[in-house]
Amino acid sequence: MYVLVVNCGSSSIKAAVVHADSGRAVADLHAERVGSAQTEILLGGAAADVRVDASGSHQVVLAASLPALLGALPADVQIRAVGHRVVHGGERYTTPTVIDDQVQAGIAALVPLAPLHNPANLAGIQAARTVLPDLPHVAVFDTAFHATLPRRSRTYALPADLAARHDLRRFGFHGTSHAYVSRRAADWLGEPVDALRIISCHLGNGASLCAVEWGRSVETSMGMTPLEGLVMGTRCGDVDAGALIALARAENLDLDQLDDLLNRKSGLLGLSGSSRDMRDIEAKAAKGDDRAQLAVKVFAHRVRKYIGAYAAVMGGVDLILFTGGIGENSSLVRNHAAQRLEFLGAHLDVERNRDARASATQPVVELSGPRSRVRILAVHTDEQHEIARQVLATVRAGAVGSDRTIPIAVSARHVHLTTDAVAALFGPGHRLTPRNPLSQPGQFASEETVTIVGPKHSIEHVRVLGPVRSRCQVEIARTDEFALGVDAPVRMSGKLDGTPGVVLIGPAGRLELKDGLICALRHIHMTPADAEEFGVKHEDVVEIAVDTAGRDMVFRDVVVRVSDKYALEMHVDTDEANAAELSRHAQGELVQTDGVARLVRRQG
Ligand code: ADP
Repeated sequence: MYVLVVNCGSSSIKAAVVHADSGRAVADLHAERVGSAQTEILLGGAAADVRVDASGSHQVVLAASLPALLGALPADVQIRAVGHRVVHGGERYTTPTVIDDQVQAGIAALVPLAPLHNPANLAGIQAARTVLPDLPHVAVFDTAFHATLPRRSRTYALPADLAARHDLRRFGFHGTSHAYVSRRAADWLGEPVDALRIISCHLGNGASLCAVEWGRSVETSMGMTPLEGLVMGTRCGDVDAGALIALARAENLDLDQLDDLLNRKSGLLGLSGSSRDMRDIEAKAAKGDDRAQLAVKVFAHRVRKYIGAYAAVMGGVDLILFTGGIGENSSLVRNHAAQRLEFLGAHLDVERNRDARASATQPVVELSGPRSRVRILAVHTDEQHEIARQVLATVRAGAVGSDRTIPIAVSARHVHLTTDAVAALFGPGHRLTPRNPLSQPGQFASEETVTIVGPKHSIEHVRVLGPVRSRCQVEIARTDEFALGVDAPVRMSGKLDGTPGVVLIGPAGRLELKDGLICALRHIHMTPADAEEFGVKHEDVVEIAVDTAGRDMVFRDVVVRVSDKYALEMHVDTDEANAAELSRHAQGELVQTDGVARLVRRQG
């Protein structure tokens, strides 16, 4: 299966016909300096015989050169779909999305969030839809992988009403690359991606770090725009906003000048005074150029600082990945960035690192030494391949083939106990007394209740659900977290490793749990027959539209759980139900399956 992947940057166009499974490109097109009189168009690496008017736009260049690319395809290659890289999906697009006129308008509406990128992406979409009107076109968003950022990491401490009005929040970028290298590295290790705490360092012209926990992005260094975070080729990354205010006043800069300064004249270029390219800077640094040496050090120091921060965010780290042109190739930067991480259990092997390069032919290279608990790897990124894969999965999943509605159940805080825990809390030999059956076959709410004791307050009369399980699990809502004074991670039921513990009190005693406290991830129970009807699989992530009295809303990030022991039902917690103003018998409708970005996030 082949996919045409189109990636329009602000002044460049890359298009390739890619085999979705292997990632192999069978034809490619590359245009540079688009929009100027010197537009250069290469087909398969050689100058293409394509004429465009001087300063032809993206659309003009693509309209003229796409037929040449298609004409260069081997006879047996059939394109199944077209994938478009779109930088900003805003709040709205968190999954690969089949493009129609409405979606195109939706992407256009996001231009204020990505003024340099989205217009170019749109021009590519328009041109390709004109040349290939009969194929499905799918947008894959750089921001989508970060749709799972928790509120605490995506929120700026700015006045909330202003933030809401102007979409002032952290979105994160490079999601396609972080998702790809995380999965690739996990495959290489032979571990499910959701069993690992990963810090992915994408270091190219643009650079960002991402903390990936349970296969989901939980922190990333770029923010509302790709300017925040690391030092980049020409972007400054983190800088005190107060310094910019002072500078603008002192130099009398207007906003366009400030934009130009921070996005195009800073970073490695600004620091070194000579180049934005790490290879040039390394060469100068080796000859003793002080500014170049400082540029390398500031760049790497910022990476190391973020690695430490993200290890703290995840309560540890199992895997550190270096990718992007610098991450895959620069032993110098990796060496500086991974120094003094032994306290985390991460030991970079200097010898291994020295000549290590990740590439298409050797996509994963180990950099950590034998005594390192944390594996450190260089991983070759391939966003084109990832886009092709996501596009194909989206097209294969097709439109969701059912308009059947799904009942929603509100799941109040509750506790699951082991036999031993029941004995400790209610007395030896005690058995749970069923009070009323729950909708999932065999499950019941019992007569028994316990008190959850947190560091701040306690919550009494928390219902115990039966039957007993092999592990204790305490499921609370966000508001309960504040009442108890604890930090409960959002997890799938049963995935309890690394979760915090809590104290339970029953009539016969007190039980200290070492782990098991979670805010349960929204999920839908369904049978294999339901899954087939909806066109989803176990552990796919989907969106659910809920039609409540007077207003529609969408629950994103809902995990599908399939078993022949289940009955069709979506579970949300009390906070979510309140937010949605759900009635007791609200019905949800499966509106969108989650495509491949979620396959990356599928739990093992
Ligand atoms: P983009 O973000 O534009 O895709 P890349 O991922 O290709 O960029 O990364 C480009 C950066 O990688 C440049 O700064 C380049 O100098 C750097 N780079 C590539 N090869 C090496 C190398 N061998 N040593 C150091 N830096 C390198």
